[in-house]
Amino acid sequence: MLVKTMVLNAEVVRKDFPILQRTVHGKRLIYLDSAATSQKPKCVIDAEREFYERYNANVHRGAYLIAEEATSAYEAAREKIAKFINAPSKDCIVFTRGTTEAINLVAYSWGWANLREGDEILLTEMEHHSNIVPWQLIAQRTGAKIKVVPITDDGLLDLDEFERLLTERVKIVAVTHVSNVLGTINPVQEICSKAHEVGAIVLVDGAQAAPHLPIDVQAIGCDFYALSGHKMCGPTGSGVLYGRKDLLESMPPFLGGGEMIRTVTFEKTTFNDLPYKFEAGTPPIAQAIGLGVAVDYLTKIGMGRIRAHEIELVAYALERLKEIDGITIYGFAPPEQRGGVVAFNIGEIHPHDLATFLDAHGICIRAGHHCAQPLMRRFDVAATARASFYLYNTQEEIDALVEALEKAEKFFGR
Ligand code: PMP
Repeated sequence: MLVKTMVLNAEVVRKDFPILQRTVHGKRLIYLDSAATSQKPKCVIDAEREFYERYNANVHRGAYLIAEEATSAYEAAREKIAKFINAPSKDCIVFTRGTTEAINLVAYSWGWANLREGDEILLTEMEHHSNIVPWQLIAQRTGAKIKVVPITDDGLLDLDEFERLLTERVKIVAVTHVSNVLGTINPVQEICSKAHEVGAIVLVDGAQAAPHLPIDVQAIGCDFYALSGHKMCGPTGSGVLYGRKDLLESMPPFLGGGEMIRTVTFEKTTFNDLPYKFEAGTPPIAQAIGLGVAVDYLTKIGMGRIRAHEIELVAYALERLKEIDGITIYGFAPPEQRGGVVAFNIGEIHPHDLATFLDAHGICIRAGHHCAQPLMRRFDVAATARASFYLYNTQEEIDALVEALEKAEKFFGR
């Protein structure tokens, strides 16, 4: 048994999340699907409501007080996010709807302008579809080729293969910081420095990392970093692309429309400064402001404490889950080298059946391919169950998960 020395008092944290007070099917809600989307603390919900109730107006346009208030709150959120990931300037922070849009922005803008036949895009076998499909679409248009770094049976990146595949043909490496299935934390700093040696740039998919680890984009040395606000206590429809300023400046716009221009004639358009060049149209204003409040919330609790709490939770979950007969856990990275994600199957029980059974006990887990079909194929499975943890989860919830899984095993007659 692990000693219960929680560095963060999740019972206190839980009080900030109204949804965690509700019941489902007459049972206390146990939410173990934060890798899909996190729950939202009251301060974030209040911030969105306050925007609509008190100063709802479009940004960067109105000459009246509430429009100025909206603009300054929106820009203050950008500052907070820059600080949260240690970006050198708020001009390097582009608001998007999430990681997917951030990666598409880079693929279409940078990729379209820079990739040619004979160039290579280096991905890994553990990427989410969001970091595969945009590159395929751009590869088809430019003639560039996709190469894939394999993973080991332990669910770690095969770094020898990475070095072998990293030739001067590679123009961009697009890699996830933390796998949404295996939980593996990839050595992104080392990947960036090796990629730079051959003249390639690196995009890091931080969807599963920014909510859980302290992030310093300058220390990582990445050229782009994408994240989803809704996985880090922020509203849905909020996300961020960090980009190196010189790269963003050299890139053509992704979407065209209002706000991203300086002058427009029917013959020619000139574009706005960063980051507005990449924010065409009315942005998700309330969502960005809500994300700023989420960042304040996480910062106040402390990303180091959140990380330490999740290491304890995942270590405890791995230890307890291993007690279940016939369980297969995917990925053997030790707790210190993984995020708060555990993917598993129990014998022949279909993960969707497990998830439905658990739902009747008030427990929310994810079942399916987790938008990582190539990774599923690597482990020769169609789907897995996945429990994922965040700052508001407790060891008692993991006990409840294990107890319900044991019941499921009996119910499905193993
Ligand atoms: N990458 C990873 C690793 C993810 O886990 C996810 C979300 N499941 C995404 C990208 C896509 O994020 P979003 O749906 O917020 O755009």
